[in-house]
This record gives sequence, C-alpha cells and structure tokens, in this order.
Amino acid sequence: MTDNRGAPRLAVFGAGVMGIGIATLAVGRGVPVTLVDVDQARLGTAHERVRGELRLAHMMGALPRGGPIGELQVAESAVVAADATWVIEAITEVAELKAKVHREIASAVAPGTLRVTNTSSIPVDELAGQVSSPESLVGVHFMNPPYLIGTLEVIRGPRTGEAAMSSVRDLLSILDRKGIVVADGPGFVTSRVLHRMINDAANVVEEGRAGVEDVDALMEGCLGHPTGPLRTADLIGIDNLVDSLLVLHERTGDEGCRPSELLLRMVAEGNHGRKTGRGFYEYGAH
Ligand code: NAD
Repeated sequence: MTDNRGAPRLAVFGAGVMGIGIATLAVGRGVPVTLVDVDQARLGTAHERVRGELRLAHMMGALPRGGPIGELQVAESAVVAADATWVIEAITEVAELKAKVHREIASAVAPGTLRVTNTSSIPVDELAGQVSSPESLVGVHFMNPPYLIGTLEVIRGPRTGEAAMSSVRDLLSILDRKGIVVADGPGFVTSRVLHRMINDAANVVEEGRAGVEDVDALMEGCLGHPTGPLRTADLIGIDNLVDSLLVLHERTGDEGCRPSELLLRMVAEGNHGRKTGRGFYEYGAH
C-alpha cells in the first residue's frame, strides 16, 4: 500500500457510459484520473471517448475552456487505486459484482481513502456490509451526463463516517457539483421515482396505448419534462435500466418496478439505446 499524499488523483472503476462521463468531468476540472475496467476493448477506446466528450462539454459550455486538463491513465487492475485520493466505482449494476470490486478497492487503497459507489439503486449499506472499513463508503449518484448535470444525489449509509462525508464535499467542490444528501434505501430518491415512471412509459407503449414519440411529447409538452421518459431511457442504457429495475423490484416488492416485457425484449435484441445506436429511437454514429 502506498502513501497517497501526493497530488490529488481520482480512480474511476468502469469505463462505460458513466465512468467515461465522470472521467471527463474530472479531467475537465484539472483532476488526473486512472480509469479501470476489466474489458480491454473499453479501455482501448477510453482516451478517444473522453476526448470526444470533453470536446462536447466545451462546446456546450459545461466545462471551462483554457484551464488545466487532468491526465488520463487506463488500467486493468484494482491495485492502481493505491495512490488514489478518491475512488469512484461505476461498474455494471449487479450487486455481487460491485461487492467484489469494492473488496478489491478496499484492500488496495490507503486507509481512510474515500470510496464512492455510483450505483443507481443498490442500497449503500448492502455494499458496506460486505467490505472492510465501511465508514469510508458513500453513495454519490452522478446524473448522466455527469459533466452537464450539476446536481447529484449523495447517499449517506448508516455506517458512513463523517470523514468520508467531508471528503465527498471536497471532491464535489473541486468538480463543481451540488450534492443533495438523502438517506439510504433501494433507488434512493431519483431512481425510485424515475425508473418506475420509465417502466410505466414502456408498458404504455407495449399495451399499444400510444407510440414512443407521443408518450415523450405528452410528458414534455403537458408536464414540462425537458426530455421524455423513453428518450431518457435510451440515454441511460436499456440494459442498465433493466438491471436497476430488477434491483428495485427484488428489494421493494413493488410490481411497478418489474421490468416491462418491452424493455426485456430490447435488451435481448441488443437495442440498448444510444450506446448501441438503437433503442426507442435510432442514433447515428456512436
Ligand atoms: P455500462 O454498462 O455502460 O458500463 C459498465 C462498465 O463496468 C463496463 O465497461 C464493464 O466492462 C465495467 N465492469 C464490469 N465489471 C467490472 C469490474 N469487475 N471491474 C472494472 N470494471 C468492470 O454501465 P453505466 O451505464 O456506465 O453504469 C455504471 C454504474 O452507474 C451503474 O451502477 C449504474 O446503475 C450507474 N448509473 C448509471 C447511469 C446511466 O444513466 N447510465 C446514471 C447514474 C448511475
């Protein structure tokens, strides 16, 4: 284990939709990042994807132009987290996988290092119960894309300590994000409300009550949602959405969270939304 008192460095686990977005936010604010994934192909395209998202963020005015850009490194093994000041886990939404990775992270980092999970729906305490030093584990639910949406949910588990909360505040201040602290539980606030609604929107389409565009147009035009639920589902990733719904359904028993047959079919057919070029809508090059 090495001392992490050098320049602050962020380790991000998972180079998928959220890992790339979080890495973009951090390097765009001058923080060096090590991105860790078990999938070599994902790591192989990581630099290009972060560069692309950084360009987009600059174009949209979501990140400051002209400031220092943090260096990006990629790695396949958790041991690189040894010199991290903070660690954010953003891997696949499967509780067993996350618990395993958090155990690897906990044994790699220096004592007291902040360990964050970006889970959408798994209770933080469920993970905390399976790792050493649970007081260093906090939920920070970054929204997608993380560099564009300035508000996020911070989940303080029953075992989360004050030092970890203070470290989260420092990190969010550097990243210029506003955290709203909520209590632990399946789906916290945003996924508990949003995922169930998206599931209902998919059911409405499946029942033939309205088409995809009409459902989104109604939610946007009548209820003032900036993006309709089905376009939002494409942005999230239909596979991740189904994983989160399964977590919610299993842990709450809420039948409204049982994944819609339409969503399950889309996952089986590989239509995972924006990231595969096709979901409820078609997308160009991705
Ligand atoms: P994704 O499927 O795009 O990416 C997941 C990545 O994790 C993949 O690259 C996969 O190879 C990697 N991975 C799997 N096992 C790993 C391991 N053992 N070590 C390192 N990497 C591993 O998923 P995503 O949409 O980026 O979601 C990641 C997390 O963020 C999930 O917990 C999800 O619920 C949450 N989240 C997603 C969104 C969203 O809009 N997609 C928003 C907020 C939070």
